[in-house]
Amino acid sequence: MIKVTVWNEYRHEKSDEGVKAVYPDGIHNCIKGFLESDEIKVRTATLDEPECGLTEEVIKDTDVLIWWGHMAHHEVPDEIAVRVQQAVLKGMGLIVLHSGHHSKPFRLLMGTTCDLTWRDGDRERVWCTNPTHPIAAGIPESFELENEEMYGEHFSIPKPDDVVFTGWFAGGEVFRSGCTFIRDHGKVFYFQPGHEEYPTYKNEYVQRIIKNAVEWAKPTVRRDELFCPNRTVSPEEARKGGK
Ligand code: ZN
Repeated sequence: MIKVTVWNEYRHEKSDEGVKAVYPDGIHNCIKGFLESDEIKVRTATLDEPECGLTEEVIKDTDVLIWWGHMAHHEVPDEIAVRVQQAVLKGMGLIVLHSGHHSKPFRLLMGTTCDLTWRDGDRERVWCTNPTHPIAAGIPESFELENEEMYGEHFSIPKPDDVVFTGWFAGGEVFRSGCTFIRDHGKVFYFQPGHEEYPTYKNEYVQRIIKNAVEWAKPTVRRDELFCPNRTVSPEEARKGGK
């Protein structure tokens, strides 16, 4: 059983009629709806809950955290962003969706601005540029999203371990749309499609990619603490003195 927490800022769906029409129960519940199964247990968390719904207990009980945010990145307290970052370093998986490229936890983990170029809606073709990657299982050579926000290069991220998907837009731009990173013990997947005005999370391939990413990002090891052991003393002594 993989325990997933879907975190959503959950502001556009409340303030914008168009977005509400696409995701009446919020993006988080749409993702929960297609993700939940006998193998995957899903809870949701949103910005306006106490501690953004991401208490120490919730984080400890999360194997993979999915993050969707856009207009209120700055309202996420630094303390919560650091909590997420530290959990990833200890082994929790993180899937950052669409405008989450500018979220505090993602920027902390990348160490760069994560800036990109963007433009309002366009047709996107998502190319699978690494078909042997587990996140690409069951995904065709390419698939189209009739409407998606254009995200273009240059994407100011550190060099990814794998670029699993590359987006092409009808305006001619390209983008590294599906990128993987390892940060200490944690696996991170960034996936570009998912603008709130379009039903992207109802696309069967997008759903399959997110499911595959959950499977891929689940912890292989999970540490209780981060420390740097001195091997000239016993592990117990090192643990006492060496955080
Ligand atoms: Zn967007």
